[in-house]
Amino acid sequence: MSPKAEARDAEPNRIPVTAAVLSTGSELMLGQTVDTNSAWISAFLSERGVSVTRHVSVGDDLPRLTEAVADCFARCEITLVTGGLGPTEDDLTRLAVSRTLNSSLVFQPLLAEEIDRHMTTRGYKFSDNNLRQAWLPGGSRLVPNPWGTAPAFAVENDERLMVFMPGVPQEMKNIMRSWVAPNLERKYSSRLRVRLTTVLRVAGLGESRVDEIIGHIIRDSSNPTLGLLAGPYETRILVTAEGKTREETERIGAPTIEEIISLIGDNYVGRDGETMVSTSVKMLQDRGLKLGLIDCVTGGQAAEPFLKILPKENLAAALVVSPAQIKTEVERLFVQFDADLVGVVSRPELTESSAASTDEDEEFSVRSQLFQKIEGEAKDETEVAKEIAVADRLVGRASVQAKTRAGAFMTWQLWTFLKSLSPKG
Ligand code: AMP
Ligand code: MG
Repeated sequence: MSPKAEARDAEPNRIPVTAAVLSTGSELMLGQTVDTNSAWISAFLSERGVSVTRHVSVGDDLPRLTEAVADCFARCEITLVTGGLGPTEDDLTRLAVSRTLNSSLVFQPLLAEEIDRHMTTRGYKFSDNNLRQAWLPGGSRLVPNPWGTAPAFAVENDERLMVFMPGVPQEMKNIMRSWVAPNLERKYSSRLRVRLTTVLRVAGLGESRVDEIIGHIIRDSSNPTLGLLAGPYETRILVTAEGKTREETERIGAPTIEEIISLIGDNYVGRDGETMVSTSVKMLQDRGLKLGLIDCVTGGQAAEPFLKILPKENLAAALVVSPAQIKTEVERLFVQFDADLVGVVSRPELTESSAASTDEDEEFSVRSQLFQKIEGEAKDETEVAKEIAVADRLVGRASVQAKTRAGAFMTWQLWTFLKSLSPKG
């Protein structure tokens, strides 16, 4: 059977396990804390083939929290909750759960001892507040949390599972891996799957162009499913497949991945960790070329991704200079540092006032230039390099993102040029 048929016919009637992710804390409502827990939990569930159908966030408010707990429990098979398990007045999750279950809070003497031990070994004084954490909703059971004092707990019936975890991300992650993962396996094993997302990177084509090229695959495919993500000078194609095992999942995804790569052709950069920077570095290495970088725009940010992975044999130098110095510095990189290729990111026609501007809202253009060493050609003493590519772009506002775009613009030009060179040997 072909992998496509395998994906289609394997289990036409499978109903995925549904899940809700509930986060609580007034700091989330105030915008003081970003809800990273929900994103992490969703990725964790998604990798196991669970269908996350709801994200809910509420503040530290008993009626709202009780309503949210009951609503998630009614709608989804799995509900994973974070926050509100601390020892203070505003930690209301225990109470909300006991209201939902129509039970009362039950004192757990063993738990009280454990909290006491955890506090004293870390040099904290045990206060009456801490005792609050030793009360759990009747009908729930304790979930071990050796990473903190806030006890986690779970409520379960034949079909459903609710797990209540502390908001502290590290404690939550530890509980997810050590307790939630094996309990999902136990309870839902026949309906869990291995879901894998492969990222395919495309250089220099916008998402609408990519959609024109592979739109028919997007429309026709349900396993794998496809998604497009636009980024500066690249579009990412996410190919998400699922199967019973890792091997089956890879087999199901492979033909679609190959088909996309062949349709994208020369603009295909690589998959997963293969970026324009990493593949450019690979091409420099394969051809034994030394790269110099000059930056007049981003204060060095443009060179950073290269400096992280470029071997020193392939790096001449990376310089942050003013636009007036570009010409002499390009020459210096070729003569003194033995560069073969120099990438420059600067601003076209930079006036004195715009150079001095610190206005974060200023729209600005970027000029990306590439120079190559002149070899075996007649040249006067000062002419050691030729400009091989130059392009200007408006990159938006002079914010952090605009600097990232400026760096990506230079990287894209460099990548395109390196691709156009015939491989060495
Ligand atoms: P709590 O368990 O509600 O007392 O939360 C303890 C700490 O965990 C908070 O002070 C936050 O720093 C962090 N936290 C709580 N909820 C979240 C969340 N949804 N995402 C990320 N961090 C969180
Ligand atoms: Mg809280």
